[in-house]
Amino acid sequence: MIGKLLVLSGPGGVGKSTISKEVRKDSRFWLSISCTTRPARANEIDGLDYHFISTAKFDELIAADAFLEHAAFAGAKYGTPRAEVEAALNSGKHVLLEIEISGARQVRNRFPNAILIFLMPPSFEELSARITARGTDHPERIAARLEIAAAEMATASEFDHILVNHEVDKVVAGLVTLATAVE
Ligand code: 5GP
Repeated sequence: MIGKLLVLSGPGGVGKSTISKEVRKDSRFWLSISCTTRPARANEIDGLDYHFISTAKFDELIAADAFLEHAAFAGAKYGTPRAEVEAALNSGKHVLLEIEISGARQVRNRFPNAILIFLMPPSFEELSARITARGTDHPERIAARLEIAAAEMATASEFDHILVNHEVDKVVAGLVTLATAVE
């Protein structure tokens, strides 16, 4: 049996990683760990949150066609390792990619059966408050991230499903339903 490929996108700070970590607790799901060139935040662990790699290594991986998709975002590069995702799908796991919009579009083109989900904040004000409260970005980066977030929210209609992140449990249940629904 081949698993389903689920893409979870949405503006940075909306809570995608909280949702992904919850979904990962369900053994039917496998969460892809991306490569990134950005530095690790204080609470992040290499190999668990991301594979933190140099720009040179990232470019080598692009040249080797090792990414299923990759994109530049807010001054850094991010990519989904292809081989691991394919292996997980082939083993029957539902694979969750937590990625930004241009990556989601690349996945849509390559895997027309992928289920694209957009996670929406309850409001832009709430998103702004979350990003500021997170305290992990420098103040000058926050304004840039909010600008990107507004542009990202404008693309939500391209997605198959929009889930509003009012309550983590409900979003997780929604994702599980989408993955396990009979086609
Ligand atoms: P952050 O730096 O806040 O962890 O992530 C910034 C953005 O990059 C988020 O929207 C996150 O979902 C996205 N992202 C993380 N990994 C990947 C990836 O492998 N590919 C793409 N296209 N985006 C990613």
